[in-house]
Amino acid sequence: MQNGFDVQAVRQDFPILDVQVHGKPLVYLDSAATSQKPQAVIDSLVDYYTRYNANVHRGIYTLSEQATAAYEDARAKVARFINAPSPECIIFVRNTTEAINLVRFAWGFDNVGANDEILISEMEHHSNLVPWQLLAQDRGAELRYLRVNNEGRLMLDGLDVLITERTRLIAVSHVSNVLGTINPVKGIVKRGHKFGSLVLVDAAQSVPHMPVDVQEMDCDFLAFSGHKMMGPTGVGVLYAKPHLLEAMRPFMGGGSMIRKVMLSESTWADAPQKFEAGTPNIADVIALGAAVDYLNELGMDDVREHELSLTQYALDALREVTGLRMFGPWEPQTRGGVVSFVLDGVHPHDIAQILDSEAIAIRAGHHCCQPLMRRYNVAATARASFYAYNTEEEVDALIDGIHKAQRVFGHAVERSL
Ligand code: PLP
Repeated sequence: MQNGFDVQAVRQDFPILDVQVHGKPLVYLDSAATSQKPQAVIDSLVDYYTRYNANVHRGIYTLSEQATAAYEDARAKVARFINAPSPECIIFVRNTTEAINLVRFAWGFDNVGANDEILISEMEHHSNLVPWQLLAQDRGAELRYLRVNNEGRLMLDGLDVLITERTRLIAVSHVSNVLGTINPVKGIVKRGHKFGSLVLVDAAQSVPHMPVDVQEMDCDFLAFSGHKMMGPTGVGVLYAKPHLLEAMRPFMGGGSMIRKVMLSESTWADAPQKFEAGTPNIADVIALGAAVDYLNELGMDDVREHELSLTQYALDALREVTGLRMFGPWEPQTRGGVVSFVLDGVHPHDIAQILDSEAIAIRAGHHCCQPLMRRYNVAATARASFYAYNTEEEVDALIDGIHKAQRVFGHAVERSL
């Protein structure tokens, strides 16, 4: 037990953690890519399909009303989870990527013009970079970058020069999926608002791991993915302030998002329906509600505490590995549970392969952050990421696996000399 948090009890809730890989117990250290799912979430999916599968917002019969109630209940749960002022501020989409692209199309095209500026950072995931590159190209706007220092922190001094009265949007990640850095988004929002800019927060790596309060943060948009927070794939969330949703045009046209359709034109339903055209991902939205219930039961403060202590433990151990270069800040208080590193003489893919032979799952590659890789002059890194179900023993296994990779490939390097 670490910090009063019973990780062994948590593990019992995740059937996949009993799986064997190459005859060894799975050590899953890739939750930043996607998290594992507790039985309650799996049960919720099965329950919907076996007991009340029906389309929502349409049928005037019991099953459809049950499905609609469960779907809208999930929206209310998600709203409370991030302290949104009302469920109507929650739009269900496929993932973080779609949430950001929704803002690009439904807000960006009407609000970003020639010579306007969009400010993002060098540490953004491609899903919070490419949409803004495309919007800037489409609208003749300028895309500006806040740089990252050697320690893996945003160079906030640059904000004074980078934010101008032409800045329409600042889009920044809350927690970096490579460096683990927790960015001071509340301060960035404040500075953006002073210049009349809106601020979008990519919370893909924060909402699953720590308490997030959108009203306290005062961000205009916030995007995150269900699959990274113990929910199913195929459902993500866009939070936006109500007055913005009211002013924004629809992202997609079709059924369920209209008020009145005539041959020549149509009028729109209010948010959130205006942005949820067609049959939504009913089962996965309901199961995301179950994931929120589960996380609330664990307690987000305790989840954060557990990951903090695990990250401290991992950083202490990684520091002792010769030839290992770690990316991102060394103080666990200012970072999430993501550790990226490279090893002298061993390619990150080879590290991942050796670890896989020990049933340890990590990610190796550019992590959809090619500009950040270039900033640090590496093509790829190895990345281990932690969640509420990971243990210190699993970190020990990671460190043993890293030593094994050094032994195997160290010899290979020597032999080839
Ligand atoms: N933003 C960050 C910081 C991420 O880590 C990820 C996924 O790894 C994304 C955005 C994109 O999430 P999705 O693939 O679920 O759209």
